[in-house]
Amino acid sequence: MKSLDIIEAEHRSMARVASAFDALDRLVSKSALPVARAHAATVADLLGYVSAYVDLVHHAKEHACLHRMLRLRDPELIPSVDRLQTEHRQAALRCEVLLNQAHDFTQGQGGDADVLAEAVREFSNSMRSYLRLEEKVILPAARACLTVDDWRAVDAAFAENQDPLFGTPALPEFEELLGKIVQLVPMECRPGVPLTGTAGGRARESGHARSVLEVRGLTSHYGRIQALHGIDLDVREGQLVALVGANGAGKTTLLRTLSGVHPVSGGTIRLFDQDITHLAPGKRVRTGLCQVPEGRQVFGPMSIEDNLRLGAYTRSDDQIATDLERMYGLFPVLKEKRQLPAGTLSGGQQQMLAMARALMGRPRLLLLDEPSMGLAPLLVEEIFRVIARLKSEGITIFLVEQNAHAALAIADIGYVIETGRTILTGTGAELLRNEQVKQAYLGM
Ligand code: ATP
Repeated sequence: MKSLDIIEAEHRSMARVASAFDALDRLVSKSALPVARAHAATVADLLGYVSAYVDLVHHAKEHACLHRMLRLRDPELIPSVDRLQTEHRQAALRCEVLLNQAHDFTQGQGGDADVLAEAVREFSNSMRSYLRLEEKVILPAARACLTVDDWRAVDAAFAENQDPLFGTPALPEFEELLGKIVQLVPMECRPGVPLTGTAGGRARESGHARSVLEVRGLTSHYGRIQALHGIDLDVREGQLVALVGANGAGKTTLLRTLSGVHPVSGGTIRLFDQDITHLAPGKRVRTGLCQVPEGRQVFGPMSIEDNLRLGAYTRSDDQIATDLERMYGLFPVLKEKRQLPAGTLSGGQQQMLAMARALMGRPRLLLLDEPSMGLAPLLVEEIFRVIARLKSEGITIFLVEQNAHAALAIADIGYVIETGRTILTGTGAELLRNEQVKQAYLGM
């Protein structure tokens, strides 16, 4: 379901554009005329992106493929799909009218600043309205009713297009506009930082989402050797936070200290505002912390299904069977082989089983220790796709990895650790651009 990730990424781009329009409508109505005209020119540039990419590419591929399949699979969805398509068509017309209005105002050919500002506001509200309809109705329905073959076809239709403004990288003609957007939108809407209210529906931005993990001044030793020298880090609800570092930097020690199997010498660990620094490992699991250890460690002679059931050992609710099916949906290969011993799975499949087993415990924070370790490149890609998917479902993840590029590419926030100290932090995108990171970890 790669297309769902693409749709969600494109929706985040649209939400950013809506947010830039919000800033621009105020600037147009409140600035002196020459400055208001300059802002109107930016409105026109943004509308150029909307009509060239959102209307012609994003909507078109949804209509041609996803919507057609939804109509076939579930006739009850036809009115919602019709409504969305009508909104898309009207948005294209509104975009054209507003573009002319903004051009005229920019050129001094008439128009009132307040009228233009009001039209911009209406346009951004309409963008949000169809984003909501898609995310609340259309995408959940698509998840529920499309078949594996349907997704294959949708994926193929979606794989070809690169977002010219928010893609990696932005096309040269859009770079200046991207720079303006970064200045216009609030910190939490900037590219590289996932947005609230888009797919997944969870607050993820660093400023507002609830704290899941808060580590302050953490130190840890092996006998007289100090492995961690005062680590500080934060993970917030819905975030994927990656910790990258070389061999021996202290990544595994940090994870083992977080899950309680290695003792803390100093500092604090808080999980959902509860001090767990000295809590026994089993109690941490019950508080919602679950680690997928390095090297998988599945129970080889037991069947795959029994391994999964074991992951739910702390639970006493009646949702275990439902969650098993959910895991089989996320990891179809496990369903095919559910009755076989876990030891018969390949390395990559065992990694998936280890992740699924952890998810069966419904963790509130999933700790992943080097999930790509020892896997062939194609399997590494597959594992990172799965992790990105878990993140898009709103699962909070702390990922420890040596494969810095792959980890930072999907991370909201990254930390770089060296000899037991965090030496850098930033959004995943910022760290990927950082010269020090490029030289030390990305081989560039
Ligand atoms: P890798 O990717 O190789 O697993 P890492 O970043 O996870 O590396 P750690 O395994 O946490 O690093 O090791 C951090 C430091 O602690 C290293 O200097 C290591 O030599 C030391 N260390 C780890 N385990 C032990 C141990 N059991 N006894 C003594 N020192 C240890």
